[in-house]
Amino acid sequence: MTQQAEVGGEPIARSGPRVMALVNQKGGVGKTTTAINLGTALAAVGQRVLVLDLDPQGNASTGLGVDVDSRGVSSFDVLLGESTLQGAMTKTAVPGLSLVPATMDLLGAEMELSDNPRRLMRIRDELAVMDQGAYDFILIDCPPSLNLLTLNAMSAAQSILVPLQCEFFALEGLSQLLSTIEQVRGSLNPALEIQGIVLTMHDPRNNLSRQVEEDVRTHFGDKVYKTLIPRNVRVSEAPSFGMPALLYDHKCAGSQAYMKLASELIKKEQLRIQARPAG
Ligand code: ADP
Ligand code: MG
Repeated sequence: MTQQAEVGGEPIARSGPRVMALVNQKGGVGKTTTAINLGTALAAVGQRVLVLDLDPQGNASTGLGVDVDSRGVSSFDVLLGESTLQGAMTKTAVPGLSLVPATMDLLGAEMELSDNPRRLMRIRDELAVMDQGAYDFILIDCPPSLNLLTLNAMSAAQSILVPLQCEFFALEGLSQLLSTIEQVRGSLNPALEIQGIVLTMHDPRNNLSRQVEEDVRTHFGDKVYKTLIPRNVRVSEAPSFGMPALLYDHKCAGSQAYMKLASELIKKEQLRIQARPAG
């Protein structure tokens, strides 16, 4: 708490964690990198963070230093009801950052859950019974498709955080995603919000990068974070050492950008909570 007050201003006054799903049906846009590094940056300013890895590739787990052999209980066990979230959690090298790791078993989740009437609500149900005071932020890393795993994340989350790579067709992909969010609001999760859009792998020297940024900002206004995540080789090297970029090289431009993003997100969260009608 003291640390929060020092670095991030006021601690965020709310009763439970803010649950955010990192969703984009495109692969390679920076979902996992953002889960790892935003999670680390939030923890670095004193927030208590859980990363829930729901991608069978388990890249967030690897990138947070939990290799395949040390993934005892995983998100698959949670989906199947064979473990609670608490029971599947493991600490990472980052103080204040825990992980529920993923394994390839997740590839079988669709089949295993086919007879379960709550199959799209499994994570939501598990979040509801966990200690609401244990975390400030829960980041759910999703696979690059809109399947049962992503739908579980979208029904469990309060909001969607969209990493968007500044490339051709980015806007088309985004409008597809927005219509999926609308559908989820109409069925599984009426309260689902868009937390924000974060522009990743940005290259200011590239005209296309600049054009895409301009278009996204025109369409989505203040939903788009001011902070741009630059393309940065240190960020892409870090996972092979099982480290978030912030541990691998906290001074690199990518690490600094994720620190800025965390602070921007926290500020917006404080404003959102203050703006909420009382009672
Ligand atoms: P997703 O989870 O959406 O599939 P990833 O986060 O795995 O995307 O990123 C895809 C690839 O791009 C990875 O190899 C990752 O290391 C690299 N990458 C992501 N963000 C950056 C960045 N800011 N600078 C350089 N490389 C990046
Ligand atoms: Mg990923």
